[in-house]
Order: sequence, then C-alpha cells, then structure tokens
Amino acid sequence: MPRHNRREPDRRRETGDGGLGRVERGPRGDDVDYHVVTIPGSRAKKVYMCPGCSNTIAVGVAHVVAWPVDDFGGVDDRRHWHTGCWRGRRTRTGYR
Ligand SMILES: [Zn+2]
Repeated sequence: MPRHNRREPDRRRETGDGGLGRVERGPRGDDVDYHVVTIPGSRAKKVYMCPGCSNTIAVGVAHVVAWPVDDFGGVDDRRHWHTGCWRGRRTRTGYR
C-alpha cells in the first residue's frame, strides 16, 4: 500500500493565470508543493533563466512557471523552467 502521510494539495486552486495552474511537488531538496503554470509559446515574450539547467529559455518557447504554494511573494519570485527540466527536476543530477 502506498503511504499517505502527507497532505494532499488542492490541485484546482486558483492561480490567477487563466485556470492553467496545477500543484506539483517541488524540485529535489525543496520538499514543498509548487504551483505550476504552463506558458504556451505564444505567451513566452521574454528570455528567462531556467534554474534546472542554468540555460536561457528563448522567446516563443513553451515552458512552465513554478513557485512555492506557501510562498506569498510576488510575480518576481516565480521561476521559469524548461518543460523537460521541470519534469526531470526530482531525478536530475547536478541540480543546484
Ligand atoms: Zn532548463
């Protein structure tokens, strides 16, 4: 039987980003839940630094934005990740 020893996040919590938001477990070593919002390429109008690989995310590339559920910081606290880097965040070696 799987263990159920942690609270289940509200996966439909309003994020203010058009209802695309969801909640997922954060990066390795960051044992909290994160809001995750998918940004389509049409809305990616700036270059961002991905914390997963330390490379840039180019304009027009679909990616995800994530920030801690329990962190009530502003938009500046959100981190933009390559979609693949976010998916591999729990297993990637060398994550800083
Ligand atoms: Zn990346």
